[in-house]
Amino acid sequence: MVASPIRSCVGCRQRAPQSLLRRAVAADGSLVFSRQASGRGAWIHPVEACLVKAQRSRAWSRALRASLTPPSIDQLVQVLAIDQADQINSPAVVPASGQI
Ligand SMILES: [Zn+2]
Repeated sequence: MVASPIRSCVGCRQRAPQSLLRRAVAADGSLVFSRQASGRGAWIHPVEACLVKAQRSRAWSRALRASLTPPSIDQLVQVLAIDQADQINSPAVVPASGQI
């Protein structure tokens, strides 16, 4: 198992493995969640509490060194949920429970 690099969440400020965080970059004044996008990235737990904290403390603009208008919390939650679903491309394996 390869250790995942540690990043700080811009919401709660706690350090966590990259695999547990989502990466955002600033693109044309808005926030884009992508692990592939080039440029300075900010990492955050995909949970509402951290999104709210980041929003309140203007952490996005600071972390990304860009003046941007972050989307609303609702939008962020939605975007992250969609994004998350995309990442889960291997569905949980449900063990076969015997044959009928
Ligand atoms: Zn966090």
